[in-house]
Parts: sequence; C-alpha cells; structure tokens
Amino acid sequence: MNSMNFIVFDLEWNQPEGIPKEERVKLPFEIIEIGAVKLNAEGKLVSKFSRLIKPVVYDRINWRIKKMLQLKTGELESGKSFKETAEEFLEWCGDDYIFCTWGGQDLTELQRNMAYFDMPPLSERPIKYLDVQKIYARMNGVRNQISLETAVDALGIVKDVPFHRAFSDAYYTSKILALIPSQIINSVYAYDLYSLPVEDKEELHIRDEDSYTYYSRRYEAKEDILKKQKILAVKCPVCGATLKRKIKWFGHAGRPLHSGAVCPEHGYVAGVLKIRQGETGGYFAEKNVKLVTEEEFNELKERRDKNSK
Ligand SMILES: [Zn+2]
Repeated sequence: MNSMNFIVFDLEWNQPEGIPKEERVKLPFEIIEIGAVKLNAEGKLVSKFSRLIKPVVYDRINWRIKKMLQLKTGELESGKSFKETAEEFLEWCGDDYIFCTWGGQDLTELQRNMAYFDMPPLSERPIKYLDVQKIYARMNGVRNQISLETAVDALGIVKDVPFHRAFSDAYYTSKILALIPSQIINSVYAYDLYSLPVEDKEELHIRDEDSYTYYSRRYEAKEDILKKQKILAVKCPVCGATLKRKIKWFGHAGRPLHSGAVCPEHGYVAGVLKIRQGETGGYFAEKNVKLVTEEEFNELKERRDKNSK
C-alpha cells in the first residue's frame, strides 16, 4: 500500500519597502505565516498546520499585506521565529510525502528563508512536487494561470473559510487536489530548482504531450554551457530522434536562444534555450523543444534572418 502523504502548503510573506536592493537580494520575502494540510494517499485530510511567524528582518508589514491577511495589530508578535516554526513544520510533514502548492513560488521562498536563517537545506537536489495550479489548468486544457478562488468557484467547493491566509489557501488547494483524477496528477510533475542537479545523470528530462523540457546540471561558468553538444542538440519531442538543426541557435546576448528543425515523422520543431543563474550560485540551461506549425517555423526563420543582419 502506498503510504505517501500529500503536504499541501501555502506561505504568506512580507515584501520589504524602502530597503536597498543589495539587501533585499538575500531575502526578497520574509515568511510570516505557514499553513498546511496533510492528505493521505486516498486524499483524506489527516492533519492541519497553521502558524504565524514573528518577522525580524522586515518588521514593518506592508499595509496591503496587512489588509489582505486581516492581521490585527501585534498579532504577528505572538508568533515564534521562522527557524522554530519551519522546524516544527518539517517535523509535522513526516518522512514520506510530496509537497503540493498553488503555483510555483512557495517552495523556493521556503528554501530561501531556510538558507537565510542558517537552516540545513531542505534538499541538495531539485525537489519534485505538485503544482496544483498547473495541474488544474491542464485538466481544463488551458495554459494561463487561474486564481485559487476562480478554481474553487468553478468546482463548486464550499467557501467555508476566508481566503488569503496561509491555512485557508492550503486548505482550498487540497480540496481541489482531491478532486483531480490521479492519472492527471501523475502526468504533470513540477520541479523546484532552488538546488540544481549536480551530476549529468540527475539532469531533468520532462516529456509533456508535444513538448520536451530539459534542465541541465549546474555549471560554474556560463561559457561552459554553450559548448556542450547535448545542450545544443534538438531532439524531436515526440520520438526523441536527434534532428539536424535547419535553423541554428540564434538570439541576442542575455536573451533566450531559438532554433528549429524538422522531424521526418512528426514535422516542424522549435527550440528555446535559456541560460539561467542558479539560486545558490552557478548557471544551468533550460531547454524547451516543441512541435510547431509550418507557419510558426517560417516566422522563426524570418526572425533568424533579421537577427543576422
Ligand atoms: Zn519525431
């Protein structure tokens, strides 16, 4: 029997105001609340977690956040420190679980705050998790982001707790997750890249319908990335065949690169390659290859021609 739990969590954080950018870089957001719901493998709620955190870095709470969270004056002062709360949270999570969030930001911010407050890393590698917002969008065949409340309304979920608190948002996310068929959940995994793959064999290859996404391991220098054949290679997202690039990688420095190829069996293919900076140093490549129409392929060619002039 599968005993893995779903840890559906949500964070609230404070955005600093009037603080120089150099200081904000280390801690862009200070977490002030953690809310979570634990579902068992059958999707039943088995435990709840809700804690306020006393801010110590940005102690003036942005008025918009204060209003949204409907915090009473002095309420946060009653919270424990981030470190103590995060430790409690991780212990509450248990041993065998997968994180689930609405959107892709919470897991990164959790790890940023943990690093800032000198806690051991949550993971030395990318973390596989469920982005329920993305899964819900997939279930509905849309690509744009849907708000939590819109999804709750569309599914006819009873709104018995107010929105925009960490616990309530985690609670509603768990309600949505429980309504999504498992074959859809299992087809749309997300990866948090706060920690990057270290070795070649850990690199991520994500196949998703007619598209393929690749995340390389960490490289120390940007220049090393564009020398690697495997990073420059364009493979058909459907059959995986390595294709000859009809449109060689082109683009402006510091912007994503583009390329194009044709699979004899599956048609036109377009690639986008980004060199991204790692959260904890170094660089990595993000490459996406997908099927495109002939028209889109020709547009890409025109862009390449303009670019080379
Ligand atoms: Zn193919």
